[in-house]
Amino acid sequence: MSPRYADIIIDISHEAIDRTFQYRVPESLIGKIGIGSEVSIPFGRGNHVRNGYVVSFSEIPVFDEEKMKEIASVKEEGVPIESSLIALASFIKERYGSTMINALKTVMPIKEKVRGLTHKEVRLLISKEEALDKCALYRKKNAKAKIRLLEELMEDPVIPYTLVTGKLNISASTLNALQKEQVVVLEEEGYYRNVLQEQVKDEKGAVCGNPMKNTGSREIPNEQQQAAIDRIISDYENGKRDTYLLKGVTGSGKTLVYIEVIEQIAAMGKQAIVLIPEIALTYQTVKRFRKRFGDKVTIMNSRLSKGERYDQFERAKNGEVSVIIGPRSALFAPFPNLGIIVIDEEHEAAYKSEYPPKYHAREVAIERARMAGASVLLGSATPSVESFHHAMQGEYQLLELEGRANEKAELASVSVVDLREELKLGNRSIFSHHLKGLMAETLQRKQQIMLFINRRGFAGFISCRSCGYVFKCPHCDVSLTEHFPGTVREKLVCHYCGYERKKPVECPECGSKYIAGFGIGTQKVEEQVKIQFPEAKVLRMDMDTTKNKNAHEKILEQFANREADVLVGTQMIVKGHDFSNVTLVGVIAADLTLFDNDYKSAERTFDLLTQAAGRAGRGSLKGEVVIQTYAPEHYCIEAAAKQDYLAFYEEEKAYRSLLSYPPFCHVLAVFMEGKYYQGVVMLSEQLKKNLEIWGEKEKVRVIGPCDATIARINDRYRRVIYLKHKDYDSLVNVKNKAEAYLENSQLAKECFVSFDFDPVHSY
Ligand code: ADP
Ligand code: ZN
Ligand code: ZN
Repeated sequence: MSPRYADIIIDISHEAIDRTFQYRVPESLIGKIGIGSEVSIPFGRGNHVRNGYVVSFSEIPVFDEEKMKEIASVKEEGVPIESSLIALASFIKERYGSTMINALKTVMPIKEKVRGLTHKEVRLLISKEEALDKCALYRKKNAKAKIRLLEELMEDPVIPYTLVTGKLNISASTLNALQKEQVVVLEEEGYYRNVLQEQVKDEKGAVCGNPMKNTGSREIPNEQQQAAIDRIISDYENGKRDTYLLKGVTGSGKTLVYIEVIEQIAAMGKQAIVLIPEIALTYQTVKRFRKRFGDKVTIMNSRLSKGERYDQFERAKNGEVSVIIGPRSALFAPFPNLGIIVIDEEHEAAYKSEYPPKYHAREVAIERARMAGASVLLGSATPSVESFHHAMQGEYQLLELEGRANEKAELASVSVVDLREELKLGNRSIFSHHLKGLMAETLQRKQQIMLFINRRGFAGFISCRSCGYVFKCPHCDVSLTEHFPGTVREKLVCHYCGYERKKPVECPECGSKYIAGFGIGTQKVEEQVKIQFPEAKVLRMDMDTTKNKNAHEKILEQFANREADVLVGTQMIVKGHDFSNVTLVGVIAADLTLFDNDYKSAERTFDLLTQAAGRAGRGSLKGEVVIQTYAPEHYCIEAAAKQDYLAFYEEEKAYRSLLSYPPFCHVLAVFMEGKYYQGVVMLSEQLKKNLEIWGEKEKVRVIGPCDATIARINDRYRRVIYLKHKDYDSLVNVKNKAEAYLENSQLAKECFVSFDFDPVHSY
């Protein structure tokens, strides 16, 4: 039976995207209209003819059929970019589970309706995390207006001034107070253009004092790079579109391959999207692209407002730019003639959306490329097990770069230190004898050191050392972390909801005064370096020191200028930065991420260790890497020490296949969260029964329900059910049934339910 009614959106890329209108599909047009079709329709009282796009179809009218208008005609000439984005939204909705509206909002930048006449905007100056901290503080002082504004800004970091004074009803004095606190700033519209101007200024050498070579000359691809480029371009010229996996260690010259390929494809009148995990979107990379593509390249990042993002996308649509570099969401740049999508560091978890629809940028890129007739180029030193498996199966073409592009830069030599042996020898410090010795030598040679902790945040939990009592958040099932220990700002903070309290002087259980933080964080490492090497200058880079705008760049710049000898940091310091004077990299405790309870933890650890090792010896000086660990015999550590991806892949593949994990089996996490524990439990039990029935024929495995790893956040209870099946589509079928069921379930209305296919983190 053909669908008889079409849901149509009229004003695309406006807030009205929330609203669709149902129209009858006339007999004559059945079979000629699909999702994304551009149609002419009579609209409003006067029945003025307007253009709209078909978003979905149904068999049932939502209102009186008699009064329903009919689609007048369908445009057949050409396919506007909006159509293909709507089709992409439909793919996302089906494949990842979400409403069509949410899927549309994911692919379409929305233009702000309320643009103030004054063209003023209010911008958030601090990170979301810090904003949460602030809200907790304001709550205590009952500063409701401040909270209202911050909550809005956490949704969108830049909002029109008219919204602030209007709907939000924030007084000038409140805004002033927040400006004084350096939480927000009131500025003129059009900031993003300034962002680019700042970068142009940098290129003239005004700000960047990086001693790295900056010759004006054009890099010539070496033989391996040329071979990779030739393969892609000759396929392209022969009309063949494909997905390529470019595997090469950090420094092997992948970026030059991207640039060359894009340049040649752009010369054929096509456009390119380059996805880079935001954390790796470094100044150096951007500069290389701008050097080649000048004003034709633009950059997106999360600090742009919705409006600014919209403007960037307009520039892409009207041909002002032909290359866009950005994180996940840049994937939806409305280029009318897309030629290639590049995904650098394709293994990064950041490519998976953490909000519904929880899409994976790699898969959506491949679909978008298929629809647009474009190619996809994935790059990584440590490809995801999934992608490498696809390459081994011949679904992607594998292209390899061996060694480093800069011939003088040798790969570093890596040694592994068993921390259990250190303990036996009586060494309780966080530095092994071996690492400490090398640090002393490196400092003496006036070379630089990077010390890396593969964990986010600060020291671990805080507890009573006599009875073991752990301080927990009253709203979440997590322990509190210590901030600014030993200073006047000392406090305990919950990283999940922003709750904070003073550090207690004694244990509420046993009265002991011996309360202390456990575990190692970046602050502690910094402290230890200062104690052991008082003459060394130390910089620290973590969430705490990079909250302010540009803080990130400033720290890296100082380090590049050799204003410090040691850089201590989290994963932030291992991505993509090139420091030619760094000859020693120390990984303080490699196991920290190894035993996270999800199937990707070994892969993530291997990646982090390989990246960390790749930081040493980027210039002509030979580098050394020390990996400290309690599990030296783990295959992930052994393979990382040898920098042997294949050895890791083989072991990991065996493990995934044995335990039925991707890429051998697909996993669907159904996540539920609600205010009342009993309600969430009931919903999860009901859902489980039904999921078993819906999946019975295709033998879908249902695991759970159980409480999530963190069973409560912000006073909301969290549960999860896992489904497993070899075929993705079997899981999609079950998901579709679940969506229909949830729509009519009273219990579900009181909870939030979301779907996550092949989750990259456990729940
Ligand atoms: P990757 O992206 O694989 O990490 P990059 O593209 O950043 O590697 O290259 C690492 C370094 O080698 C950079 O400093 C880059 O300028 C240099 N480089 C890359 N290719 C060449 C080449 N063909 N000739 C000279 N230098 C190169
Ligand atoms: Zn105690
Ligand atoms: Zn909390």
